[in-house]
Amino acid sequence: MSQPENESGLPFQEKVVPELLKHRLVTPEEYLRIHKKTVENYQEYWESVAKELDWFKPWEKALDDSHPPFYKWFVGGELNASYLAVDRHANSWRRNKVAIIWEGEPWENGPKEVRKLTYLDLYREVNRAAYLLKEVYGLKKGDTIGIYLPMIPELPIFMLAAARLGVAFTVVFSGFSAQAVADRMNDADTKLLITADGGWRRGKVIPLKEIVDKALETATTVKNVLVVRRTGTEISMKPGRDAYLHDVMSKVPIKAYVEPERVKSEDPLYILYTSGTTGKPKGIIHDTGGYMTLLHNTMKLVFDIRDTDVFWCTADIGWVTGHSYIVFGPLQEGATEVMYEGALDFPEPDRWVSIIERHQVSILYTSPTAIRTFMKQGEQWIKKHDVSSVRLMHSVGEPINPEAWRWFHKLVGRGQVPFGSTWWMTETGGIMISHMPGGYLVPMKPGTNGPPLLGIETNVFDEEGKPMPEEQKGYLVITKPWPGMPLTINKDPERYVKVYWNKFPNVFYAGDYAIKDRDGYFWILGRADEVMKIAGHRIGTYELESALVQHPAIAEAAVVGVPDPVRGEVAEAFVILRSGVEPSAKLREEIVKFVRENFGPIAVFREIHFVSKLPKTRSGKIMRRVIKAVATNSPVGDVTTLEDEASVEEVKKAFQELK
Ligand code: ATP
Ligand code: MG
Repeated sequence: MSQPENESGLPFQEKVVPELLKHRLVTPEEYLRIHKKTVENYQEYWESVAKELDWFKPWEKALDDSHPPFYKWFVGGELNASYLAVDRHANSWRRNKVAIIWEGEPWENGPKEVRKLTYLDLYREVNRAAYLLKEVYGLKKGDTIGIYLPMIPELPIFMLAAARLGVAFTVVFSGFSAQAVADRMNDADTKLLITADGGWRRGKVIPLKEIVDKALETATTVKNVLVVRRTGTEISMKPGRDAYLHDVMSKVPIKAYVEPERVKSEDPLYILYTSGTTGKPKGIIHDTGGYMTLLHNTMKLVFDIRDTDVFWCTADIGWVTGHSYIVFGPLQEGATEVMYEGALDFPEPDRWVSIIERHQVSILYTSPTAIRTFMKQGEQWIKKHDVSSVRLMHSVGEPINPEAWRWFHKLVGRGQVPFGSTWWMTETGGIMISHMPGGYLVPMKPGTNGPPLLGIETNVFDEEGKPMPEEQKGYLVITKPWPGMPLTINKDPERYVKVYWNKFPNVFYAGDYAIKDRDGYFWILGRADEVMKIAGHRIGTYELESALVQHPAIAEAAVVGVPDPVRGEVAEAFVILRSGVEPSAKLREEIVKFVRENFGPIAVFREIHFVSKLPKTRSGKIMRRVIKAVATNSPVGDVTTLEDEASVEEVKKAFQELK
């Protein structure tokens, strides 16, 4: 499809940033000089990126900002995300290239199932699934479906099939409870729910269909349930409502073709609920044109994706990381990627390393929570395998403690491969801050996130909305609209305005606490609402946690602020010891001393508690608000996203024992 061109006839990036074409290490100053041009002309910059996509109809206006903060990107343009991720490659030389290397969890002297889908296979499957949704279930543009599936190929296939029809979808992580499923189905008004009989997790079956049956007692918009047979578990089927996928699929022609709907750029692609770390999850709606443009840029710049790569994002598709960097991002680029069904450390702690070795993974995208688990298990598991195929790594989800960064960089990165911590959130749609912000690398600093990407302008503000001087703590904000930004919060535009756009006028408030250093790198110091004020000093909870995990006895730590009559607030710490270390009063004193020496005397602890578990979200993030509620005797609030109820009891017990 032809694209609007700028006056020189040259793609904008080549004109303004010729350096982009070279892949090399640059100094932060060099980078920021290039970056500045792209944010000054941010609309033009983003148009140059969007032109690299295949639009059915070019846009008329880059950005409609007539109703802030409800921005619309590439207005007038028409495209289809499924076409971009599948058809384009199936109709090119990539047709027989492997798109997805899927590995099931079950293991018997090796993985029991490995399935490779080429782009042509994916095309066939997506078309058949779309045919089913359209012709059998009568779904059309404007409808919404729910997907509650484990990490099996049907999950991306149905996401792409829905996108093909312009049907919005909402994916619910397969570890969530009936209540969480029901809440999301009701909020999103889904008509059809796609699930499986069960899902494999650590060798056990999660009874997904049973959970769905329970959820549907209160989720009344769902008229039909489509069930994938995965575990062979016996389930009950409600006549007229439920059907097995293989039964209905047998009626769909093998070579079914469904014309991809011409979707408007600003039409919703999906609704996704945030992880619920800080409170009730928010139903973020993402558009199509802006979102796909942002993903294209980040795949190119941050991941430097090439046809020779094997890309592996270890997240679950139930989180935004999986939506963007398992489904739409890599597939839009025609990449080959690994998709793994189960727990990274099942049946042995080296499962994930064996995946890297067997499939020759070259780009790895993982999370601090995974890395902390690997650290607890020990380096011997990594050393059993050859990880030399890995050429680039990034992490996401939480700040990465410098300790964990060094450990992983040494062992998997062999002390040499680029390894960044990409900052972004469900709301941003894709990566905003990274050590590979412009297709090349700025020098790495353990524990930082790096500078903002080209075209993205971020800053750190004080309480009044003024930019903070460098090296000083404040609130992380995004100061220019970007493609991939949310359309709104589903059914709650007021909340969208209130949560993100009210604190500072016309600026996106991310809710994270950060500093910008002299090189223009950002350091995320934790959640803004978890910042402690000890004797007048503002300290991010994560800053003290990082100081704690530097102690050789500590594997993981969570810190919350509690009121103190003298200092305003002091820290209450909950720590998990490394295996083999025994808790004692002496160790407690030693830790306090250690942190004071390393962090400074302002690290005042009311208490240090030893626990064996910490309350986390199912995506693996520490839920400090739950710990804080226990430590201050207040109600714990919404815990539907909590991973393990027992962890709360443990924190309670530890807290009471010491009182
Ligand atoms: P909720 O908004 O429902 O409380 P959540 O914020 O955990 O949940 P996500 O959108 O999954 O939901 O996570 C985004 C948040 O994760 C960011 O706001 C930030 O706090 C944290 N985060 C993500 N990546 C990084 C990173 N590389 N470094 C530091 N923090 C990160
Ligand atoms: Mg959030």
